[in-house]
Amino acid sequence: RVRTRFAPSPTGFIHLGNIRSALYPWAFARATGGDFILRIEDTDVERSSQAAVDVILEGMQWLGMQPDEGPFYQMQRMDRYKAVLAQMQEKGQVYPCYMSVAELDALRERQMAAKEKPRYDGTWRPEEGKTLPPVPEGVQPVLRFRNPKDGVVAWDDKVKGRIEIRNDELDDLVIARPDGTPTYNFCVVVDDIDMAITHVIRGDDHVNNTPRQINIFRALGVEPPVYAHLPTVLNEQGEKMSKRNGAKPVTQYRDEGYLPEAMINYLARLGWSHGDDEIFSREQFLQWFNLDHLGRSAAQFDEAKLRWVNAQHIKLMADDALAALVAEQLVQRGVERAALEDGRLTRICGLFKDRCDTTVALADWAYVFYGDVQPQAAELAQHVTPAVAPALGALSEALASCAWDKASISAAFKTVLAAHSLKMPQLAMPVRVLTVGTAHTPSVDAVLELVGREKVLSRLQNR
Ligand code: GLU
Repeated sequence: RVRTRFAPSPTGFIHLGNIRSALYPWAFARATGGDFILRIEDTDVERSSQAAVDVILEGMQWLGMQPDEGPFYQMQRMDRYKAVLAQMQEKGQVYPCYMSVAELDALRERQMAAKEKPRYDGTWRPEEGKTLPPVPEGVQPVLRFRNPKDGVVAWDDKVKGRIEIRNDELDDLVIARPDGTPTYNFCVVVDDIDMAITHVIRGDDHVNNTPRQINIFRALGVEPPVYAHLPTVLNEQGEKMSKRNGAKPVTQYRDEGYLPEAMINYLARLGWSHGDDEIFSREQFLQWFNLDHLGRSAAQFDEAKLRWVNAQHIKLMADDALAALVAEQLVQRGVERAALEDGRLTRICGLFKDRCDTTVALADWAYVFYGDVQPQAAELAQHVTPAVAPALGALSEALASCAWDKASISAAFKTVLAAHSLKMPQLAMPVRVLTVGTAHTPSVDAVLELVGREKVLSRLQNR
């Protein structure tokens, strides 16, 4: 059974690059009928925050990427890590190292001067027949992992292909600090073992950790999982997307009116493809996803493209489902919920969804039907001229007494146009500006019908 995980560090608000690292393991678990596990890697206590955890949980909930297990928190698993450390110490797989920071610095400088790669030199590594230096007094040692000296660590990465690292290039990793707290690479391995993870799908910033982690797996007698290291997501400037260079928290896209389906569709394509399919549903994605079509090169985020994908999904979405989303936004803007239950909202969404690339834009349109209208000054000046005033007056009269449906509204326009020798746009444009705020709308009779007689008449007076 496939078991995948998303293991974010809550050291800042997760952005689209991070959530893409959640999307693929989630999709792979769903596509294979496996389990998806959420693990919060919060051991960097100083930089971790509950607010960042909340964005992770809210973002995943919004996108419908619920984990089957978790969230687990590494800080709550310290006892377990320490127990495993103790076992390893008993077996001689780790050893205490008393080298001070000053000594390590000096060692590094000597190595750099000799143009060697800086690495721990094994001073405190016990070997048969070797005498260790005398233990200095009052120094708390770190624990180092006894990395194999010979051979290679190799794995078939699902994205990068075969990777081989010689063990003599890896030094003995610190896996517990002087105060006994375990370090990152060690906790990850204990967790991946305890959570029975079969596929580790993560960002390729971790690819250098992988050979070290594989060695720890083997020391613990467990075969490592399959690895897939995803290429970086770049921002629009071509830099690695990061909290520090302005990447938005994922939940901000929700607030800006993006649909979860669209986000998933867009993110899915940021590093994976299914032929030329560009717009697809969550269900299609989950059916199609596999590890064989992951891209090898960095993907670049493109907000305009994301908006376009969102617009496609808005068009595809059922009018009543859109209306439910828009209703929430209108309530937040102060519209009475009861007023929204008059059956118009679904039709309004149907009428305007083709011209909106976010649900916020759609709510802006809908607001005009339930709240106030604010015609743009420039459009008023351009379209609502003194010359058209008599025709507007006549139209108001006709609309005051006609039946209130599209055909009757259209007939009222025709009568007024004929009597005043005007063409449709000469009357329809000012009417649109006055009743819905702008001259660019769907057909005027359909719009007026939905605005409603009372609002239409009072807005036509407002000139
Ligand atoms: N906590 C790590 C990160 O946020 C991910 C570790 C992993 O996936 O193994 O980058």
